[in-house]
Order: sequence, then C-alpha cells, then structure tokens
Amino acid sequence: MPELPEVETVRRDVWGRYGGQTLHDVTVTGRRTVRRHAPGLLSGLAGQRLASTGRHGKYLLLAWEDGRVLVVHLRMSGQLLAAAPGGRRPAHTHAVLGFGGGAGELRFVDPRTFGEMFLAGRAGRADGPASEPGLAELSHLGPDALVVDAAHFGAVLAGRRAPLKSLLVDQRAVAGMGNIYADEVCFDAGLRPDRPAGSLAPAELERLARSTHSVLEGAIAGRGSSLRDQQYRDLYGNLGRYQLEHKVYGRSGMPCPSCGQAVQRVEMGARRAFWCPTCQR
Ligand SMILES: [Zn+2]
Repeated sequence: MPELPEVETVRRDVWGRYGGQTLHDVTVTGRRTVRRHAPGLLSGLAGQRLASTGRHGKYLLLAWEDGRVLVVHLRMSGQLLAAAPGGRRPAHTHAVLGFGGGAGELRFVDPRTFGEMFLAGRAGRADGPASEPGLAELSHLGPDALVVDAAHFGAVLAGRRAPLKSLLVDQRAVAGMGNIYADEVCFDAGLRPDRPAGSLAPAELERLARSTHSVLEGAIAGRGSSLRDQQYRDLYGNLGRYQLEHKVYGRSGMPCPSCGQAVQRVEMGARRAFWCPTCQR
C-alpha cells in the first residue's frame, strides 16, 4: 500500500504536470471509487483551475480555485497516471480528469477498488506537503508524520502497552506510515518494533521523531518504494527506487547492514515486523 513517501512523490508529479491547468471534463466509471457521494458531483469541477496540491498522511489533496478539494486515497492498489488525451485507457481505469493546456488526462486506475476519491469543502490551507487542511473528512487523522515531534510521540505513546509499531501505523496517532516505513523508522531509531509503546524514554522519543523525518525524507528523495508486486508507480508509471535502500523491511534472514546479524521477523498478532536483534532495543 502506498505510504507517505509514495503519495508525496505522486503529489509533486501531479503539481508539476497539472498545476495551474484548467480541468475540462471529468469521467467517472467506477461507482466504488467515488462512493461517498454521487459520482456526478465531480463533474461540477469542470472549468476550475488546479490551484494547489496538498497531502495529509496518505491522503492526496487537489485544491481548486473555488476552494473545493478533491481528496484521493490510493489504498491498496490505486494509481494516478498521466496520459495523453484520447488514448486507450487501461483496464481498471475508474475516473479520468481531462485537463487543457496540453497536460492531458489524469487517470485513476485501481484493480482492487479499495481506493477512493471524494469532494470536500473549502480548505484553509492546502499547498505543499504536510498541509493542515482543516477538512472535517480528515479530522480523525493525527498530525502528518513529516511534522510530528517528540512531544507528540510522548503524548500518544504514554501509558500504551501496545507494540510501538502498532501505534506508528495508527493513522489517528500519526498520519502517513504503514508497514514499510514503521519498520525502517524503528530500525533507524534503534528501537524494537514490539517494545511496549509507553516504555520509551525521552531520549528515545527524540530519536523516534528524528528517524521518522529522516527515513521519510530519504524515501521521498528515492521516489518511494515499489515492492515485488510493482503495484506502486509514480505519475509516469515508473517504479520507485527506495526499496533498494530498505534496511530491514522484507529482509528476514538477510544481514543487517549495520552489524551483519540476520534480520528477524516478529509476529505481533495480525501484524508482523522486521528488525535487527543487535541494533534495536
Ligand atoms: Zn544490526
């Protein structure tokens, strides 16, 4: 599933190609993709210019001149893909935004149809990454992982006996991380993913915040991670590169890049985590 770095990569690509361009028409063929309201509502965006883009956690925000925001969540298998107008659309294309100015089509392709798009109200501020859009639809989310600090981690982890990883992937605590980056952040911070969340000392909370920022920023620089299923693609259909820099995720039995000890896999209820028994405590 795309996590913060993948969504941020797509956001930047979308702004680069469609920013300031006028939307000419909207075609929705996937009823499940636009399931929160009548799909025809999206057609009302025609004639609007794409004024800014934003992101909160794994949600991508496309803000229009009139203040409305089109919220996109890719979930398991969603892709936003650029295409020249009029070409043959791939299978599982559920929505198409047609832009003028030579920008062409922005297609939402989603084989498993867990992804969604919906129109939300006026945004307070929706430009740039980690914006705080003030959208009621996103009010359940914790702060974006790129701006979270040690004090926030301290507040949401305090008293919790659940494993650290399960809090890091809880979007209500901190928005943006899933299985891949929670494991990579725990490794970078030297913390066991199955530590009771409330057991972190102040210095460990500082390390957790620092590692959260540095791992996610590194992954954005690597244009995200494409796993073996190659489901994650950027706007132009290219794979990410950051999977080549994973230290522990998906690497059980392989040597830890820091100490050479075999990376372990631990099962934590329904969830699992990869970690180094020497480097993480
Ligand atoms: Zn190690």
